[in-house]
Amino acid sequence: MPSRKPKLKVDLVIPVYNEQGVVERTYEEIRRVIDALPCKFTFYYVDDGSEDGTLASLDALAKNDRRVVVLELSRNFGHQAALTAGLDAAQGDFVISMDADGQHPPELIPEMIALFEQGYDIVQAQRVEADDGFSFKQATSSVFYKLINSISGTQMVPGAADFRGMSRQAVEALKSMPEYHRFLRGMVSAMGYRNIILPYRETKRVAGRSKYSLGKMVRLAMDAIFSFSLVPLYIGLSAGVLFFCLAAVEMIYVYSFWFKGDTSSIAPGWSSLMFVILIASGVILIVLGFIGVYVGYIFQQVKGRPVYHLKKRAE
Ligand code: UDP
Ligand code: MG
Repeated sequence: MPSRKPKLKVDLVIPVYNEQGVVERTYEEIRRVIDALPCKFTFYYVDDGSEDGTLASLDALAKNDRRVVVLELSRNFGHQAALTAGLDAAQGDFVISMDADGQHPPELIPEMIALFEQGYDIVQAQRVEADDGFSFKQATSSVFYKLINSISGTQMVPGAADFRGMSRQAVEALKSMPEYHRFLRGMVSAMGYRNIILPYRETKRVAGRSKYSLGKMVRLAMDAIFSFSLVPLYIGLSAGVLFFCLAAVEMIYVYSFWFKGDTSSIAPGWSSLMFVILIASGVILIVLGFIGVYVGYIFQQVKGRPVYHLKKRAE
């Protein structure tokens, strides 16, 4: 009898927030792709505190398909925390994280697995811009990646969404990073290991609206900037030095009148004084703000609270 190689265990980690009607459709799309593959698949759907019927939809999927595991979080913790919950639960040799809205084409899964089998630890999908006019999301995203790559020591792939496959070793490495403010793309870039980029064209959501509100986008960008860069602190420092120099120049200027014995021509310059006071206090407040954010991040890290709370696991 020919000895059969055990099947490769592949996990799909999919965070879901208010995607009723969407998640069923993308599940079908994923199934169509993976049912043709010779691997043992497990779905880890993480319900990130949905307020609509998403949880019932997921439970129905789990009932009909033994490969589906549903992790219910106790409230909405956000995309990165939900992904973390899924990665913590995953057991497979190769773990793929992807969105539930159909924007991450499941057609890439076979290619990701093939690259993993060639020895890559991290297969990072990269969104290439569809040339269909101006999009707020794409514009802010490209500005963001330019900024973060210029101020952080960790190089991050522009357009790299949380659509990637990771070997067991890479997942364990990621799990060993206990950061409260999680910007997984950056953490994965910082980890190293053998990695490869797989470009793809992003499609429109199959249905529903983006769950990334402007507030959530700003918070994610802040997590990236303040967890991966100390440059904002240096900005404050250089601004302080600049103002110190300006003050020195002004002092010399004022003394020059004293030397000439011409003090009467120093007019009581209210406007210039106000200008300097306003700018200087602006700089001080900005610097204090930067320091405040870092202190806040340290505070949250020091509390050591879990990134998410798991309410229930169903399979
Ligand atoms: N998501 C989540 N928690 C949130 C926001 C989003 O789990 O607080 C999920 C969402 O259901 C989707 C994925 O994260 O599967 C990406 O979100 P979305 O498509 O809204 O983001 P976008 O593609 O607009 O960046
Ligand atoms: Mg989306």
